[in-house]
Amino acid sequence: MIVSALKYFLVSGLLFVNTFIIAQGEFMNIGVMEWYNIQRFSFQVEEGRYAVFADNNKITELNKGEFIFIYKTGNKIEVKSPNVRFGQYQKIYLIGKETSNSFRATPITPEKDMRFYEDNLKVSLKPTGLRLVNNVDIENYVAGVVQAEVGPNPAPEFFKLQAILCRTYVLENLNKHEYDGFNLCDRVHCQAYYRSCSNKEIEKASKSTKGLVIVDSDINLITAAFYSNCGGQTVNSEDVWQKSVYYLRSVKDPFCVNEPNASWSKKISKSQWIGYLQAKGRNSSGAGPSGELEAFYQNQRKSNYDVGELNIPLKTIRSDWKLKSTFFNAVPDGEYVYLTGRGFGHGTGLCQEGAMKMASSGYSYPDILHFYYKDVHLVDLSALDFFREGR
Ligand SMILES: [Zn+2]
Ligand SMILES: [Zn+2]
Repeated sequence: MIVSALKYFLVSGLLFVNTFIIAQGEFMNIGVMEWYNIQRFSFQVEEGRYAVFADNNKITELNKGEFIFIYKTGNKIEVKSPNVRFGQYQKIYLIGKETSNSFRATPITPEKDMRFYEDNLKVSLKPTGLRLVNNVDIENYVAGVVQAEVGPNPAPEFFKLQAILCRTYVLENLNKHEYDGFNLCDRVHCQAYYRSCSNKEIEKASKSTKGLVIVDSDINLITAAFYSNCGGQTVNSEDVWQKSVYYLRSVKDPFCVNEPNASWSKKISKSQWIGYLQAKGRNSSGAGPSGELEAFYQNQRKSNYDVGELNIPLKTIRSDWKLKSTFFNAVPDGEYVYLTGRGFGHGTGLCQEGAMKMASSGYSYPDILHFYYKDVHLVDLSALDFFREGR
C-alpha cells in the first residue's frame, strides 16, 4: 500500500491500459450511480481545477464553476462545452490539479439529482450507458460513507468508530466489484456513498482516525460486521453464517435495551404458524386443532427453535417470516401466536444503537470496539504493511 493509486490512475489513463486499476490504500475506485445507466451528464468544477484527458490527450482544463457535457453516442463518448465540441472518445479522465478538488455530476438522461464528489472521475462505456468511477482518496470516501450510514446526531466518538469500521470494510473488500472495473459500488450492497462529506464534525472525526483499521490476532483485517440493535445480547457468528469467528462472540449488551430498535412484535394466525411448523417436520398427530401448541421462550439467545421434536434454526424462521431478529418469544393465545422480539438485524458484531449509547455515555471508540469485537487490535495501515512485509 505504498504506491499511490492516483499514479496508477494517471499512468494507465495515459497509456490506454484497459485494465482494472486496483486502489492500494490511498485512493479507491468507487462505481457511482451505476444503476441509473447514465446516457448523458454534466460535470462542473465545485472547487479546485481539473484537467480533462480524453483517451491519451489532454483536451482542456476546467476552472471553478466551469462545466462540460459528457454523452454516450453509439459506442463513443462525446465531450462538449457550451462553446466547443471536443470530439468522440473511448475514455475520459477528469483529474483534480489542486490540493483539494471537488465537482458536481448531474445526470441529464435520465434526469437525476446533482451529486457532489471529491477528487477524480473516470468515465468509460458499458453496454447500457456510461460508467462513472470516482477515484477518491480513501479518507474522503470514508467521511462520505459515514455521513450516508449514520443517523443525524450521534456523539462524535461514534463517527470515529464508524470511520474505522468503514475503512476496515473497504480494505477487506477491495475486489468486490473486480469484474465491473472498480473496487466498490455506492449502494448498500457495498457501503452507501451518496456524496462527498458535507458535515464538519464527521470530517473531523474521520481525519482524527486517519489510517486506523481493525485486525485480528493474525494481523488480518476483521470482518467488521454490524447491525442496528442486538436486543441485549449479541450473536455468535456461527448462528448467522456457517463460520465461527473468534472475535464475533455473543456478549450481553446493556447499552441498547432502551434504544429505538430494541423491541418488536408480530402476530401470526395460529393455523398459519402450525402449518409452517408442520412443513418443518412438526408431528401433527399430537396437536389438536387449536391447542397443544407449546410456547417458545428465549431468556437468552438460542440458536434453534427447539420445541418438541422440532429443531429449526432461528435464522431460517427469521428469513421465512421476515422478522426483525432471531431473538423472540412465540406464545400462542386464542387464534393467534404472538411473537415478541428484541433487537433489529443479524446480531453478530457491533450493535450500532448500543455503540451510540456507549459513545454518548463517554466511552471511547477503542472501549466500544473491544466491547463488541473480542481480542482485536487497532492498527495503522502503515503498521499493517510493516507486519505483512515482516512475515
Ligand atoms: Zn456493491
Ligand atoms: Zn445491543
